[in-house]
Amino acid sequence: MTNGGVPIKPAKFNYLRPSSLEEAVHYLSEYGDDAKVLSGGQSLIPLLNMRLSTPKYIIDIGRVGGLSYIHADGESLVIG
Ligand SMILES: Cc1cc2nc3c(=O)[nH]c(=O)nc-3n(C[C@H](O)[C@H](O)[C@H](O)COP(=O)(O)OP(=O)(O)OC[C@H]3O[C@@H](n4cnc5c(N)ncnc54)[C@H](O)[C@@H]3O)c2cc1C
Repeated sequence: MTNGGVPIKPAKFNYLRPSSLEEAVHYLSEYGDDAKVLSGGQSLIPLLNMRLSTPKYIIDIGRVGGLSYIHADGESLVIG
């Protein structure tokens, strides 16, 4: 999508990169609806680029430890 021939880019936002789950939850409770979680960015980055989503804060949980797992637990699949 373009705007007069210029590709649309995200509106300004504050980038937060917590390293623990506690820190991520703190940011979420602090900024609430002004924040969006960024995981892989497959859906969110295009939405930001087209300004269909304009959060004030992006909370990148990509480096939060302890969530990167997928394992079987009996008949369940557990995804971090
Ligand atoms: C080529 C392609 C093929 C696809 N095929 C399929 C398919 O076959 N089936 C299907 O179901 N989907 C499909 N999708 C959609 C894809 O699965 C979603 O884009 C995916 O869920 C996004 O994950 P993400 O980690 O990149 O999230 P992001 O793009 O980072 O975020 C997506 C949304 O979820 C929120 N979010 C992310 N993580 C969290 C979290 N931990 N807690 C709360 N909110 C969070 C974000 O704030 C945002 O609103 C496809 C996408 C692409 C690009």
